[in-house]
This record gives sequence, C-alpha cells and structure tokens, in this order.
Amino acid sequence: MRFHKILSVFLFVGISLVFLSCTKDIYKKNNKAHKKSVKQTSALIKEIPKTKAELDYDTLSITDEWVGTTNFSVRKPNYVIIHHTAQDSLAQTIQTFTLPGTQVSSHYVIGRDGEIVQMLNDYLRSWHAGKGKWGNDTDLNSASIGIELDNNGREPFTTSQIESLLVLLKRLKWKYAIPTANFIGHSDIAPSRKTDPSIYFPWKRLAEEGFGFWYDEDVVFPVLTAQDSIAIPIENTDSLPQNNIDPILALRIIGYDVSDEKAAIRSFKLHFIQRDIESALTEIDKRILDNLYKKYL
Ligand SMILES: [Zn+2]
Repeated sequence: MRFHKILSVFLFVGISLVFLSCTKDIYKKNNKAHKKSVKQTSALIKEIPKTKAELDYDTLSITDEWVGTTNFSVRKPNYVIIHHTAQDSLAQTIQTFTLPGTQVSSHYVIGRDGEIVQMLNDYLRSWHAGKGKWGNDTDLNSASIGIELDNNGREPFTTSQIESLLVLLKRLKWKYAIPTANFIGHSDIAPSRKTDPSIYFPWKRLAEEGFGFWYDEDVVFPVLTAQDSIAIPIENTDSLPQNNIDPILALRIIGYDVSDEKAAIRSFKLHFIQRDIESALTEIDKRILDNLYKKYL
C-alpha cells in the first residue's frame, strides 16, 4: 500500500515535469519566431529613404541627396480598444494568437483570475481591430493597443479581471497620454461586424476612473435626481422636455461609422444603454445621446 503511494507520487511528479518542459518548449519555439518577426519589422524602420538616383521610378519631387534628421521618435498608440475573446479559456486564446494561420493577435490578454499576459510590444501593430472606422480613422490597428478579456460573451466579467484592466489602463493612459475619449470597444469601431465587449462590460465604471465618457445621469434623469431615491419608470418620458436631436449626426460626432445606421445605433446601445440593443432609440436613449455627444465635440 505504502509502496503504491510512493509510486503514485513519483508518477505525478514525473508527469508534471514532462508537462512543464513541454509547455516551456512550446513558448520557446514561439518566442523565437516572435523575435524573428520583430527583426523583420525593425528592418523596415532602419531602411534609409532612397535618393532620386536609387528610385526605380521617375520623380521630380525627390532630391539627389538624402538629408537625415535626428528630431524624431517612434509613433505611439493613441487609442485603447477593448474586446472579449469569445473563447473558453486564456490558454485557448493564447493558442489562437500564436498560430500564424489565424492572423489575429492582441497586445494584452487578461484572464478571468486577473492575470495579464502581454503578447506584443505596445509600439508594434497588433492585428486585433480588423476592418473598422472611428471618426475618420480607418486604420485603428496602427493607432491602438488591443486588450482582450477572457470571456465567452455570455457571462459577467470577473472583479479581478476588471481590477487588473483598470491598473493596465492607468499605466497606458499615463505612458502614452491617451485622451479620455479614446478608450473604446471593438463594437464601437466595427458596428456591422462586432458585438464585443458584451453588455456585461462595465463602461460606466471605466468612465468613472477616467477611461471613456459616460453621460450625466442627473441631467438625463432630472426627475430621478430631484426625488433622490424615488425612481421613475424608465419609459415614462412625458414629464421630460422633448429634444430634437439628430441621432445619426450625434453618433457620427461621437465617432461611430454611420454608413449602416441600424448597426451604429446597436453599437451605441451596447456601450451606453446595455439593454434592448437591437431595438430603435427610445426617448430616453436620445436624451442620453444628446448629453453624450457634446463631450466629444
Ligand atoms: Zn474583438
């Protein structure tokens, strides 16, 4: 009996060691490939601009001599785009982001336990945003940092995960001087394609911490504030002054691509209303929009 116990302990330790060494090997191979890619990308930056004689096309605008300047630095991210992974585990997401065929990645992945895995230098262009538009920017991958939260899209985000996210956002905002308005979701920049992060994402909490905007609840619901804790039914808008806002123009001012109006409204509702996202804008929604867009002017 005792012998069996000792044997099973040895077996357990042995299997664990084999597993650990395999895991290490996977990352070793992957990180070597990563370094090679970084080297190839660095070569682009190191390239010296060609002179007129070196160019293979005829142009009058390039001089014969090249003149270098030392007044430069690297371009830096100016947006943070938040996603949920729509996968079942952190390990699954990491695997997706390390397989070359998937052509998707992210700078950071945050696990349900709050663990942050960085997968790419902030200055490099991760492939997380895809086709999208915010304001007049149509290459959000070049301008942003992508953060993926391990979440299947049908569940609330964990407290540890949100706390870790807030710490990371604080660092990024400070380091790159990212404007408050530029903390947005994947669905915001790709309304007709994406619905992440889901309605469970705490955008209001983020705005309270200085990451993204939220509407002034006391202005949108004046009756509610006046009577303090006495709530009015959300659909009872009779007592509120009517507003004549042009919702599509307001959405465009915030940054939404309104080429598909229905999709733009859905993305707005996903972020700021977080209920009935497929329905049209209600009077309350319009009041919220009216209050919000002015913050983006
Ligand atoms: Zn996404």
